[in-house]
Amino acid sequence: MKYFIKTFGCQQNKADSERIARSFAARGITQAKNYQDANYIVINTCMIRRSAEDRVYGLVRNLVKLKLSSKGRSASGRKIIVTGCMVGLCYRDKTGKYLAKVRELLPDVDEFMPIEEVGFDNEPVRQNKTNGWVPISNGCNNFCTFCVVPFTRGREVSRPFEEIIKECQKLKVSGYRSVTLLGQNVNSYGADLIMTNKADSVAHDTFPLRGSSSYFGNPLLAEPYHSRHLPKFKPVYVKHLGRYRIPTLFPYLLEEVAKIGFENVDFISSNPWDFSDELINVIARNKNITRTIHLPIQSGDDAVLKRMNRWYTQTEYLELITKLKSQVLNVKFTTDIIVGFCGETEEEFANTVKVAQLVGFEKAYISMYSQRPMTAATEVFADNVSHEVKKRRWEILENLINKPNLDKIKMNRMYLYG
Ligand code: SF4
Repeated sequence: MKYFIKTFGCQQNKADSERIARSFAARGITQAKNYQDANYIVINTCMIRRSAEDRVYGLVRNLVKLKLSSKGRSASGRKIIVTGCMVGLCYRDKTGKYLAKVRELLPDVDEFMPIEEVGFDNEPVRQNKTNGWVPISNGCNNFCTFCVVPFTRGREVSRPFEEIIKECQKLKVSGYRSVTLLGQNVNSYGADLIMTNKADSVAHDTFPLRGSSSYFGNPLLAEPYHSRHLPKFKPVYVKHLGRYRIPTLFPYLLEEVAKIGFENVDFISSNPWDFSDELINVIARNKNITRTIHLPIQSGDDAVLKRMNRWYTQTEYLELITKLKSQVLNVKFTTDIIVGFCGETEEEFANTVKVAQLVGFEKAYISMYSQRPMTAATEVFADNVSHEVKKRRWEILENLINKPNLDKIKMNRMYLYG
């Protein structure tokens, strides 16, 4: 018996697929080279953009055309299993409408498997032999209005601290040279552990959960947090980039992983909100932590950021960049940008261009906005920027950031006259 996994989307999905692979390997089922050879075809889905969702529908249709569906083929016993974000959304949409839609569009699928069933207990079958992906959390609490992740993966849940350290130590012993810590918002890691008093396994007595000038007590949280290894202290909120946040354990986790001795420790994706001074200090003093930081901006315009429910301003984002540049030698930045978000005017777009010029991003993952089910933007705003305008704005940023050698005169002409 053989399995084949097709993974769409981000590194977190790829890391999930490595754990799915283990669940097959544990039953003596081996990896097939292609769909044709497989008894189990697993499709790990992404919902971040409509195009990613459509690719899943297209793939299943093609498998059916190739007669690779089990339906109507009793002899083969082949199963098509869909998992990942599409299934997460099906299970979280209490109206059942999305599940009904998916069942209608994918009648040949044998099983819809929630990714939570895979969990973190399965040791991954790693595809990359030098860099290990290690998920540290799952889900997100931020509810950016364009983003479906809080609905596909649910609220943020952090993995136990010790479990992550053990997995990283094992990678090092196995000869891995680098590690990438993964999460939708890695630098909010541990806020849920602190809030729910589940950080007992954190052996640390110096991490500045209180005492930092940027933190202040939250009167709503009367019960002090305590763990086996820490003195009692009150959970506190930090006001950072326009929002109150719970302090996180990520700086400490990152430093502990760095101390294991990898050549490079990377992390994706981080959010400007949780990029605390403590985190900057940890990066600055550990030379094996990445110097290329992925810091999604999404838009450089304050009004668009507000509509996106991302409460930092252009100025605050640029201040954070300046702070990082001044404290972390040779730091570089990559980012995510959405063009053509609901109601984005030329003036608003021009502010994103301005930020791109000021920061000098190494690379940007630029996407044209598309409506996603259950998100606030879909419910509240009109998707009223035409595809042509989105495409032109995408090209302008793509040429500016990702093709820096393009003729600047041609680029300026494109920007000015479309
Ligand atoms: S922080 Fe990232 S994952 Fe979370 S809602 Fe916003 S865009 Fe989505």
